[in-house]
Order: sequence, then structure tokens, then C-alpha cells
Amino acid sequence: MRAVLASAATIATLLAASAGFAQTVYPIDRADILVGSRFDFKVEFPALVDPAKVSVTLNGKDLVQIFGKPATFIEREDGKDQSALILRDVSLTEPGSYDVRVTDGTQTRELHWNVYATGPRRAKNVILFIGDGMSLAHRVAARVLAKGIAEGKAFGKLAMDDMPHMALVATAGSDSIITDSANSASAYATGHKSAVNAMGVYADRTRDVLDDPKVETVTSLAQRMRAMAVGIVTNTEIEDATPAAMVAHVRRRAEYDRIVEQFFAAKPDVLMGGGRANFLPKSAEGSKRKDDSDFVAQFRGAGYAVATTGPEMTSLADDPQTTKLLGLFTLGNMDGALDRKILKGGTVGKFPQQPDLTEEVAAALKVLSRNEAGFFLMVESGMIDKYTHLLDMERAVYDTIMLDNAVKLARDWASARGDDTLILVLADHTHPVGLVGTIEDDMASIPNVPMRERVRVYERAGFPNYPAADAEGYPSRVDVSRRLALFSASLPDHYETFRPKLDNPNEPTVAGQEAGTYVANERYKTVPGAVLRLGNLPAMINADVHSGEDVVLTASGPGSDRVRGQMDNTEVFRVIAEALGLGSADADAKRTEIAPRQQ
Ligand SMILES: [Zn+2]
Repeated sequence: MRAVLASAATIATLLAASAGFAQTVYPIDRADILVGSRFDFKVEFPALVDPAKVSVTLNGKDLVQIFGKPATFIEREDGKDQSALILRDVSLTEPGSYDVRVTDGTQTRELHWNVYATGPRRAKNVILFIGDGMSLAHRVAARVLAKGIAEGKAFGKLAMDDMPHMALVATAGSDSIITDSANSASAYATGHKSAVNAMGVYADRTRDVLDDPKVETVTSLAQRMRAMAVGIVTNTEIEDATPAAMVAHVRRRAEYDRIVEQFFAAKPDVLMGGGRANFLPKSAEGSKRKDDSDFVAQFRGAGYAVATTGPEMTSLADDPQTTKLLGLFTLGNMDGALDRKILKGGTVGKFPQQPDLTEEVAAALKVLSRNEAGFFLMVESGMIDKYTHLLDMERAVYDTIMLDNAVKLARDWASARGDDTLILVLADHTHPVGLVGTIEDDMASIPNVPMRERVRVYERAGFPNYPAADAEGYPSRVDVSRRLALFSASLPDHYETFRPKLDNPNEPTVAGQEAGTYVANERYKTVPGAVLRLGNLPAMINADVHSGEDVVLTASGPGSDRVRGQMDNTEVFRVIAEALGLGSADADAKRTEIAPRQQ
């Protein structure tokens, strides 16, 4: 016992001594790096150092020998007493273990990278479906509503559940156990960890949000190594974290203008979603750009067909000449399935011809499959997350059903072609939402017993009485007398109504009197039976928050057999890289050099 204590104390002392002085190195320790993929190498020294004493070696060889060019030494980074070393746009062409050693003559840091190759290409196409924030409770509720359930058995499976391979995927980022949609999508897109709000980069210490050490995205690799087409489809703003992370390199996800510029530089063949506001020059109505650039015009000039409604999108996609398609259907986020199809809330009145996610996917498949070299397509059902933040579970569940319809469409499309397409379906992170029973309540009357007494649990929950779903899996109403009780465990102060919001998406909070704080939205105070529920989160948080549980990944098609057990989110990239053989000798031979990446 004494010996254990002594060694633990020694380790603690060593850690304390090194933590204060150690250099920070990007890519980080234990990074898995695809052979041939591009990245920026950076060392951040915690103090000023003498460049003559700085040495960086990889497996004992000097940096210049390995990368073929010297690093740039920055004596006073950001004008502070801190030096740095940076070497941009390099790659490692030999797979294997790399011991990285950095010393400034006094302090030494050692870390380890694993550089991996892949086998030959197995899949022609890859489709990555991301249900943003989709948790198990959303999936189960979607199954119950879309398929129906009696005597404990559902009448069918979701398309995303009925896939041959499944794994749990850990979601933590390099800075935190809790991830956001930027660094989680970035892990899928690059195979590297990143920090909250960052994508396509390691988050460094400098103020500049565009100078962080970059890592290459799967879309860049697919274009550069395989001449494949790239599609990015969502129903949120196209600049939002998940779609943006497929191409962008930025420390701060809120940099929408910069992200639009990076989309234009990357030229994905299909780019569709909401978020037109940041494509329009600032003089245009509804614009949120801070400059006069007109990116709708620029994309058009670059040969893109441009759609602003669902019917336009479909007819442009049907034209065999269309190989590049930009679709921007709303200024901000698009509306979810429940509003578009049934309730007509949100911005449906203003944008009545928004396509459904399934229609976007059908159009994208038509356009992308015109490229003989295959394609990578990311499809996001992004409002699942936003509605869950707002504690609007009905809308979140309807958009989970919509995601599943899009998965079914893609799977049917792939099987008609002889299954040459790897299809992956997963969330980027979870919410702490649980299905706890049913709520027995006739919405027409003012309840004479408190609403919480109407929450039925265990055997009293029974089964909900939603009407049978339509052909697309949507029940025609959510205000039924026995409905699913889905609650989040992370709460701001808000009025709990125990009732679906039939007019517009829920807005649980409004800004409080004290700057930066939020209070319950009084608008729901008078809903029959509403009770003020005190939150369990800091007052600066205005909504439900993400949680850190693993997400479920299901997969079909060539390369999907690698999906099993429990995986890290960076391994999702590796599954894709393996399926496309992005690190095979064959990829090397066919590599086509395109213009260097923008710094
Ligand atoms: Zn979120």
C-alpha cells in the first residue's frame, strides 16, 4: 500500500513538473494519420526559445529530411513571450509508427503518431448520414410513430436499424468530454480530434481563427486522390457546423462568411440546404453577409445550376446536363417535417416550397452519380438537434423519421445498383433525452388534475394512440390523448406544458434582465396545466445541452464490416478511407494534383 502511494505521488510530481513546461504539438499525441493525407505541423513553445537549440525529429530523423522542407520559426507568437514552429501542408508517405521528439534544449516533449495505409478501394460511393443530436430515445420514438407497436412488438424496423453492421461510437473532443457538432463532424471528416467550435483544424492558441493547424478532409481527399464528386446536403443552414465541417478549416464555427468562401474554394458538386443569407451581398434583402460578395452569382459563374425551391431543384437535377447544383431554400434553417407537412408553423408560410430531405437526397444522387469516378455524399438531418435543444421532442422525432426515409431511399438506390455504395448512419453526439412513458391528456379540455399526474410510467404507460402513419411514416397528428413522454435531463428554467407546440417550435427561454442570462419564456405560462420547472443548468445556458454518451453507428455496403463493437469517432473517417482505398498504392498512382489548398 505504501509503495503504491509513493509511486502515485512520484507520477503526480512528474506530471506537474512537465505540464507547466511541455510544448504543445499538432497533430496531437496518439493521432492516427492516413498515409498521404495533408496536414500542418505545429509546435507551440510555452516561452521564448532559442531557434538554434530547437530540434524536431521523427523516428530520429530531422523534420526537413522527413517532410522535405523546413519549418518556419515564429519568435514571438501573437506578440507574446511564446515561440512557435510551423510547417504547413505536409504529408507522410510511409505507414508505420512515428516517434516525434521536440526539444528546445531544455524541455523535451515526446509523442507518438500512427500513420496507416489502406487496402484497395472497395466502394464506388460513400453516403454518410448524420442525425444531428440523434439519441436512442429519438430512434425508438421514431420507430413507434412510424411503424406502430402492439403487445410490445413494433410492426417494423427503421431502415437505419435494419442494417448489417453496428457499433457504438465515442464522441469526446480534444478539449472536452462533451462535443459540439463542429468538432464531432470534423472527426468524421478528417480522422483527427478537434475542440468545441473548431473544424478541419487543431485549435491552437493564437487569436486568428483561420491560422490554426489544418488537417485534410475526406472531401478533399476524394477529389484529389480519386477525382470523385462531392455532395453536401442538409436542412439546416448550409454553413452550420456539420455540413461546413465536410470542407472547412476554421477555429470558430460562427464564421459563416468565411465558411461560404471555403465552400466556393472547395467546389462540392452538390451543396444544398438553408442559409442563403450568407451567400447574398449585404445590400440584398435578408443578407447576413458583412461584405458585398454575391456568392449565388459566383457559384452560377462557376457553372452551378441554382435552385431556391424544391420543384426547381428536382427539375434541374432531372436535366442530364446538370453536374453541379447549389440549392439554397431558405435564408436560415429550413423547417422540419412536422411543420412542413402538418402544422405549417416556423417559416413554412414564407418558404412554402422547401424540399423534404428525401427530395434533396434523390436530387443529389441523380447529379452525383453522373460522375463516373463515384462520389462522397454527406446528408444531415440537422433539426433533430435544434428541436431537442428547444425541448420540442415531437418535431425532433418527426425529423428522425425523415432521416430514416432518406436512409431508405439511399439504401434502395444502392441495392438497385448492386450494392457498390458504403452507407453509414449515425449521430454526431447525443442529448440526455429519455423516453419515460406516455402522457394521458385530452388537449381539448383544461386539465383538472395536474399534468405531472398524467404522466404514465411502467405498466400504466401502455402504448400511445397516434393515428396510423401515412406512407412516409408520419402520423397525421401529435396532439393525441396518449402521447409519448420524452424528457431531457438537462434543463434551463422553463414552463413545462407536457403538450406538443401546435403553432411554432418551442421557445423555452428568453433573455433575462442580467446580461448573458436566460429565464423561462412567460409565453407558455398560461398554457393549461403549465408549471414552472427550475433548470439544472447555469443561467447562461438557454436550452437543453448535448450529452457525452456514445452514439449508434449502423452501416451497409462494401467496407461496412469494419463497423463493429465500440469505436472512436476518428475511426469513422478510417472506415471511409478504407472503403475508398484512399491510402492504397493504387490511390497514390492515380493521385491528381490540384491547386494547393488555400492557407
Ligand atoms: Zn446541438
